[in-house]
Amino acid sequence: MRYDRRSAEAEEYRKRYKTARWRKRRAAHLQQEPLCRMCSAAGLVNDGSRKMDGSLQDNPRRRFLVADHINPHKGDAYKFYLGKLQTLCPDHHDIVKQAEERRGFVCDAGEDGWPTDPMHPANR
Ligand SMILES: [Zn+2]
Repeated sequence: MRYDRRSAEAEEYRKRYKTARWRKRRAAHLQQEPLCRMCSAAGLVNDGSRKMDGSLQDNPRRRFLVADHINPHKGDAYKFYLGKLQTLCPDHHDIVKQAEERRGFVCDAGEDGWPTDPMHPANR
């Protein structure tokens, strides 16, 4: 058997993305929201065929859309299957995830307008 560097935990996350339940949820989400949310906010129509600057995506491996968990699920099954999703192009997905990792918290707000992340400075 091949040596696998991924931790057991990461392996568990990865498995979850392969479940029929997730695939169904992802497909239903992308059907409901078929355009990158951040490209749309910038006035661009991106169904996964474009880069975030509006030019054609010339890398076929990046020609898709991500059903992104707005609040990181961090392996939590409840958040994974029931947490809110947003559609992002791979460019925007990379940017959002990198910014979150650098800051250590996300800026999403709940229904009441207050940041939902316990790590957000407003909640510390
Ligand atoms: Zn985008």
